[in-house]
Amino acid sequence: MVEIVEAKFITSAPNVAAAPESDKQDEVVFMARSNVGKSSLLNALTDHKGLAKVSSTPGKTRLINYFDVTFMDRDNDGAKLHAKFVDLPGFGYAKVSKSIKHDWEKNLTDYVAGREQIRLFIHLIDCRHPHLDIDTQVSEFLFDNVRENQVILQIFTKIDKLNQKEQNALRKEFPLAMTVSSSKKRGTHKINRVIHDILKEVEDEMQEDMSDADNI
Ligand code: GDP
Repeated sequence: MVEIVEAKFITSAPNVAAAPESDKQDEVVFMARSNVGKSSLLNALTDHKGLAKVSSTPGKTRLINYFDVTFMDRDNDGAKLHAKFVDLPGFGYAKVSKSIKHDWEKNLTDYVAGREQIRLFIHLIDCRHPHLDIDTQVSEFLFDNVRENQVILQIFTKIDKLNQKEQNALRKEFPLAMTVSSSKKRGTHKINRVIHDILKEVEDEMQEDMSDADNI
């Protein structure tokens, strides 16, 4: 099993220009419409109740929040792996003015398209509304903009809200997506394993490159 053994808030940034400097490709970006369950998932994955604030006012926070996260792989001698979780502001919240909405969306798209440190994009979708235009737009935007060394993962949240038959239909329609219930803690271990393994590939490649360089 892979667990997150340490998680702490590092900083907030208003835009990509203010994002922390880093020469690693170790960022996991979480994106979702407001209220889809992003904060709850961050808290569940890190087993840290107050890490990301569960929103009482949806869409209010517009900063990009960074968390330092340490994974431990219990199936591999407790090997540790460091990463950054990036909590992007919720998008598509209707009750903000058009100009704020425009700035904000530009900010998000700049971030997603311009930040090379991102390894993995996690797009969270409410399992009860799998076909909203805004989510389709986000998916298309991601597919059009990701680099070769970046991965996209779709996760359906609040899966406890669907009965077994509805869950089966969703899984059939989206065979590559994962599902989770943060409140029932279902699916969180599997997600941590997948995130860890995707990040580990980058680390392994860097180590190979370094040993190749040593051998020249
Ligand atoms: P955010 O705006 O995307 O960060 O969403 P929050 O994590 O603040 O969650 C929004 C609401 O959905 C809150 O009332 C949560 O308690 C609820 N919620 C989040 N995850 C789940 C889940 O897995 N199952 C259920 N039933 N409710 C959830």
